[in-house]
Amino acid sequence: MKNEVKTSPVAHYDVCVTKIESLNKHTFEIELLAPEGTVLNYKSGQYLKLELDVNNDGQPLWLSYTISSRLEADKPNRVSLIIQVVSDFSGKVVDCLFAAKASNQPVKIVLAMGKAFLQTNLDQPHLFVAAGSGISKIKCITEEILHRDPDANINIYWSNRHSDDFFLLEQFHNWATTHKNLNFHTILESAQPGWTGRTGFLYEVIQQDHIDLKETHAYLCGSPQMVYGTIDQLNALGLEERNCYSDVFEFSPRAEKLEA
Ligand SMILES: Cc1cc2nc3c(=O)[nH]c(=O)nc-3n(C[C@H](O)[C@H](O)[C@H](O)COP(=O)(O)OP(=O)(O)OC[C@H]3O[C@@H](n4cnc5c(N)ncnc54)[C@H](O)[C@@H]3O)c2cc1C
Repeated sequence: MKNEVKTSPVAHYDVCVTKIESLNKHTFEIELLAPEGTVLNYKSGQYLKLELDVNNDGQPLWLSYTISSRLEADKPNRVSLIIQVVSDFSGKVVDCLFAAKASNQPVKIVLAMGKAFLQTNLDQPHLFVAAGSGISKIKCITEEILHRDPDANINIYWSNRHSDDFFLLEQFHNWATTHKNLNFHTILESAQPGWTGRTGFLYEVIQQDHIDLKETHAYLCGSPQMVYGTIDQLNALGLEERNCYSDVFEFSPRAEKLEA
């Protein structure tokens, strides 16, 4: 049983969509700005809900997106999101955001949600495991850790289906070059033409690099199968579930999974 963690209070804000940048052919970085003087109260690793009339039927939906940027003291009214377009639906989400930006119409957000935010002792090693857009949380938490302790021990493993699914690689590789205790690994599940990086399941690659994860804190972002599968496989190396943090624990707890 995990200890109860203190989460930030939840609050509503009207924000403007101030920037939309394409990170690769189906991934967008969105910047949202609340009015000057607002302090968006969240912890690195939390997510927000965004209200959008995605289907243009007058019935707005509330959609969850991880906050990909740490709270900056000099711009506490700003948050960024990373949204992947993997279906018509998420395409419409991004279209709505482009429309809101073009018309300068504010959108509503609620934050902050999620218990899997940075809350661990930075003197101990940290293992970050992400699949696909799950890297958004890892980016945010890494920014926060490096701000607090540039020499913290961090191992990041990021898996995608295709080599062109990766984005922000320059930033992650720069961190690995600049911070002596930060390692960054990109992984594909199976070999593809032209891929010279690592291949395999995330847990397999981690097992190749580590023999003892007893003192390690792990943050995992991806599907419930990936998160629980990785934790179970790494248990033999000493990784304990009580030292693991994931939104999956809240929206797809193990008990529910077993009963399904
Ligand atoms: C905690 C959390 C954090 C997330 N963070 C991110 C992130 O950082 N980046 C990211 O790209 N995605 C994130 N997601 C997923 C995101 O919330 C949306 O589910 C996603 O953008 C929907 O697009 P999709 O293409 O995956 O559609 P799918 O999830 O495959 O949706 C299929 C269908 O479900 C319906 N649907 C989906 N969501 C809703 C909804 N909220 N209300 C009503 N109907 C719905 C639509 O009709 C859609 O056609 C997160 C989800 C959660 C729970």
